[in-house]
Amino acid sequence: MQKGSIRVQTENIFPIIKKFLYSEHDIFLRELISNAVDATQKLKTLASIGEAKGELGDMSITVSLDPAAKTITISDKGVGMTAGEVDKYINQVAFSGAEEFLNKYKGQNENNIIGHFGLGFYSSFMVSNQVEIVTKSFKNEEAVRWECDGSPEYILEETTKEQRGTDIVLHINEESTEFLDAGRINTVLKKFCRFLPVPIFFEGNQV
Ligand code: ADP
Ligand code: MG
Repeated sequence: MQKGSIRVQTENIFPIIKKFLYSEHDIFLRELISNAVDATQKLKTLASIGEAKGELGDMSITVSLDPAAKTITISDKGVGMTAGEVDKYINQVAFSGAEEFLNKYKGQNENNIIGHFGLGFYSSFMVSNQVEIVTKSFKNEEAVRWECDGSPEYILEETTKEQRGTDIVLHINEESTEFLDAGRINTVLKKFCRFLPVPIFFEGNQV
């Protein structure tokens, strides 16, 4: 297991960004679904040029809710990530993206910003006190689990996962329990996630 600290230039980016992004918290779902769609489309493209072998099978994206555990999980069957890719794209790219975003829009009208500029993966921390990524790359490598509580400290370890793709598990924070309601999730999904190139399922129904 690897424990590490995400290197950010701005000190205390995490509390700042959380406070800064108080409005439009529901965009976390749009961002995570859009990453799931990207991962799925990437794999389809790689398969079409012969870089991913074998049957792709079902490629749908699933959103599931566990109100008792206070979790929302977004699962795709896309490219997945290797340990090296999690380190690169999550620990480095996603977090520096959040930092860049913060520096660029600090001081501007907060209400307008978020809807227009995607904050990406980091937006999951607006509604979560802990986020887990369980992912298995289409490349033949061990599945990995990443966990972070929104502080720069994270854990990255090997795990087991049957199916190729990525599960993002959000542990919903006290201020965001509205999202533990199926009706609310349905509304958000309908708002952001219609007409996407990949089918999205929530509670057995296609959005
Ligand atoms: P962006 O989507 O603009 O690149 P994000 O912060 O949303 O920025 O995501 C950062 C990176 O993390 C993505 O570019 C991708 O490499 C990786 N990533 C995020 N979610 C997934 C996923 N579900 N499957 C595979 N890779 C992912
Ligand atoms: Mg994204």
